[in-house]
Amino acid sequence: MSKIKILSKETSELIAAGEVIERPLSVAKELIENAVDSGADKITIEISGGGSSLLRVTDNGCGIAFDDVPTMFLRHATSKITTGSDLENLNTLGFRGEALASICAVSHTEIFTKEKTASLGTHYKISGGVPGELERVGCPDGTSVIIRGLFYNVPARLKFLKKDVSEANAVSGIVKKIALSHPEISFSFIRNNEQEFITSGNGELYSAIYAILGRQFAASLIPVDYSYNGISVTGFVSKPLFARPNRSLQNFFVNGRYIRSFTCVSALEEAFKNSIMVGKFPACVLSINLPPAIMDVNAHPVKIEVKFSDDKLIYDSIFFAVKNAILSEQKSIEIGIENKPENDRFTLSYKAEISPPGEVFPTEIISQKSDDYKYIFTAPKPPEPPVAPEISPLAEEKTIEEIKLIGEAFLTYIIAEHGTDLYLIDKHAAHERILYENIKSNSEELKCQYTLSETAFNVTDDFITAASEFADDLAAIGYDYSCNCGIITVRGIPSILDGFDIETTFCEILENMSKHKNNPLPEVIDELYHTIACKAAIKGSRFTGSEELLRLAKRVLFDEKIRYCPHGRPVIFKLSQRELERNFKRIQ
Ligand code: ADP
Ligand code: MG
Repeated sequence: MSKIKILSKETSELIAAGEVIERPLSVAKELIENAVDSGADKITIEISGGGSSLLRVTDNGCGIAFDDVPTMFLRHATSKITTGSDLENLNTLGFRGEALASICAVSHTEIFTKEKTASLGTHYKISGGVPGELERVGCPDGTSVIIRGLFYNVPARLKFLKKDVSEANAVSGIVKKIALSHPEISFSFIRNNEQEFITSGNGELYSAIYAILGRQFAASLIPVDYSYNGISVTGFVSKPLFARPNRSLQNFFVNGRYIRSFTCVSALEEAFKNSIMVGKFPACVLSINLPPAIMDVNAHPVKIEVKFSDDKLIYDSIFFAVKNAILSEQKSIEIGIENKPENDRFTLSYKAEISPPGEVFPTEIISQKSDDYKYIFTAPKPPEPPVAPEISPLAEEKTIEEIKLIGEAFLTYIIAEHGTDLYLIDKHAAHERILYENIKSNSEELKCQYTLSETAFNVTDDFITAASEFADDLAAIGYDYSCNCGIITVRGIPSILDGFDIETTFCEILENMSKHKNNPLPEVIDELYHTIACKAAIKGSRFTGSEELLRLAKRVLFDEKIRYCPHGRPVIFKLSQRELERNFKRIQ
């Protein structure tokens, strides 16, 4: 007897609906995206009971004609594309024509809609996919879709829903994301009859952020505005000091669509590397605009995961955009910029490798041939444009006025005066960062220095594994050693570590390397540099001579890279003479 049969339309609709509609959040997302596509400039989202008892989305967009209303609830009914080739040039959020069909299959759905030019609107009901009444009614321009009893006919799904508060929070989360991606639309979110937030719809991303994420968050942001090979990246990233314990505040939008993307997250975090504490994450609201043809949004039924045809291009655009923003923020704590005339722009020709990105981050590339690049820099007004461009200008070249060492507090903080500012510098953090930069750019520091006698010590299996796995990298930083029967014998060490206990230092390095063995190599090497820099740096609470303190202060004040230690702790704080005078009430 044959066992295979075709499922009924109702059953196959329920199965198909399951792909798109998992939770109230998915319904909200689809309905809001339809409202955005309708050209509305005002969208209201209301929910009660976590969104499964009631969810209503109302817009003032184009509305739908009477005859189209029953059709729009059919699977693969869409006004947004006609043929497959239209997918190449999408500028709407929807295109699959299956959201409404899925939603109405698993709920009691009702719609009021009116086109601006029509004298009457339409009211239609459809429950569990079964059409109900269809009538002409008076109603406002635009569309209001009401969903009641979500999953009333799919008890299995209903069981998987979380508590009402959690479902409602998830809905609120997606409304926030979509509202951030469309600051030109005013979004209002009402939970259990109470308005939770409303955005102005004035087109300014900053006001949307302020309304949705609050004043404190808004105040912690650095603007990003960058164009790179036809891709523009605009928006905001959090200042390094405001890093978060998780990634929940990382928002990426591509052509107005909220997306999740590993490429975007990696580029953001790479740009923040060494400015942010380990284990903390930057926050961002970044809007990426690119030619639709280089992105495939049809990679996932809910259209949240996208594919880029050139991941590297997207990665580089975000990396440069963010790095540039962080660097200009760091520059702004540089001496006395505020009182100088408007920043001047100067151009210089420059030969540099663009990837992996070097130390200089152009605000704009003005011409590019093979590996020759011409950049435009935005920089504080210099006395003359530098003749021979230096990647990291040294103190001597940039010194305008004397730096005066006032002293040292608590054997830890250097106090220095420059122009009309006073600086407090954490000597260990500063030295650690300086060494880290030196090690990265100068192999001299890592030259092998042979020891007078060999040092042999027992180590655990993990360390032996790390010592053989990373043998080449350890040799490259200056270690000469061999492993035999659980014993490591060291004959040479990186010259920068001269004077440190050989066994302790090497074991510490091996321990860090074995912790990182699942990470990609650059991360391991970076960690290695961190460990060496931290070891070799002068320590807080210990005596340091005044010449050394002055040297540190100079380097910190004139090298923008030295703003955070390699683990993201700040290196420098500025107190201006004005601030002091204000505090002592000499001036208002
Ligand atoms: P898609 O958005 O992928 O086209 P949907 O099932 O979400 O598919 O919607 C089907 C069609 O119904 C849309 O293409 C659009 O023409 C129409 N529609 C849905 N919601 C609205 C709305 N709020 N305003 C105007 N038209 C809408
Ligand atoms: Mg849709």
